[in-house]
Amino acid sequence: MPFRPRYTGLIEKYRDRLPVTDDTRLISLGEGNTPLIRLNNIPKLIGKNVDIYVKYEGLNPTGSFKDRGMTMAVTKAVEEGSKAIICASTGNTSAAAAAYAARAGITAFVLIPEGKIALGKLSQAMMHGAVVIQIKGNFDVGMQLVKDVAKEAPVTIVNSINPYRLQGQKTAAFEIMEELECAPDFHCLPVGNAGNISAHWMGYKEYNDHGIVNNLPVMVGFQASGSAPFMRGEMVDNPETVATAIRIGHPQSWDKAWACQKESNGWFDECTDEEILAAQKMLAMKEGIFCEPASATSLAGAMRDIKSGKIPEGSKIVCTLTGHGLKDPDTAIKQSTSPMMTVDATMDAVKKAILDNLVH
Ligand SMILES: *Cc1c(COP(=O)(O)O)cnc(C)c1O
Repeated sequence: MPFRPRYTGLIEKYRDRLPVTDDTRLISLGEGNTPLIRLNNIPKLIGKNVDIYVKYEGLNPTGSFKDRGMTMAVTKAVEEGSKAIICASTGNTSAAAAAYAARAGITAFVLIPEGKIALGKLSQAMMHGAVVIQIKGNFDVGMQLVKDVAKEAPVTIVNSINPYRLQGQKTAAFEIMEELECAPDFHCLPVGNAGNISAHWMGYKEYNDHGIVNNLPVMVGFQASGSAPFMRGEMVDNPETVATAIRIGHPQSWDKAWACQKESNGWFDECTDEEILAAQKMLAMKEGIFCEPASATSLAGAMRDIKSGKIPEGSKIVCTLTGHGLKDPDTAIKQSTSPMMTVDATMDAVKKAILDNLVH
């Protein structure tokens, strides 16, 4: 039989491991099933013998891993009779909430920090018809407002404090283990609210508990230096970083993430904005993979720990690339150093431009 069954999303694929029944109406856009790409050039550039894989979550339907959680959260909200969902967001949660609400035929309300959201993400929330409420405050302020208002209005919160979000997101770990036929030695992620690192740890433990694999990874969480409450050991009130998706000072999954660190013998560390942007550019230039700045934090940190030997040679490492580079074209264009020129529309001028730039 040359045909395989059509892939129709992660709830259908993992329905035995997710809280749904045969009667549940699934709200799906075909999320999950993202590529696990082995890096060819960067390990050589670092000069270390390591296997680095990137899980390219930017290839989800709205361009970030948030779709994995949102398909579950919106499916359950609809099942429970909800007509509206709400979230605070640095951008990607609002894009996913807007799309899945549109798919379900319900209303999405999204609170975003005015002026601090990447343009691609804002365009998504607007196009999918969400009610966009810009607040004169950061994500953490928005999150508190969402928690307060949900007590008084008929709306379901779809931030990662909604337990169904993490259930959906744990499936990324399932996919990785199925492809590698084991858990990796190290799994590096960018950390904002720390929901995703906690969800991956749940997924790894679940397959290990059920004997599908018999190892567990060391979990490593990287934050942006200006926004690193896990490094400071306390909440940060005015987080700042170019990686707007992880510009979060009061992580909602604080306890879960510390448990993940302790149980997996992992660690947290921080990367500067310069390191983050350099890793983003390196992935794009040397591997052909375009992720948004926050996503590159996982690789930036991993490269540093590989160079220092903290992650030893011979290791199998997975770095999650949480969101697509097209989400934030402004930051990309600003830091690009690729040659760009304007010339006359003549054969001579174009030929000269080619010959002048042939050798780099
Ligand atoms: C949401 C998000 C993160 C952070 O994930 P948490 O679960 O909040 O730790 C990182 N990168 C991108 C692109 C995101 O959208």
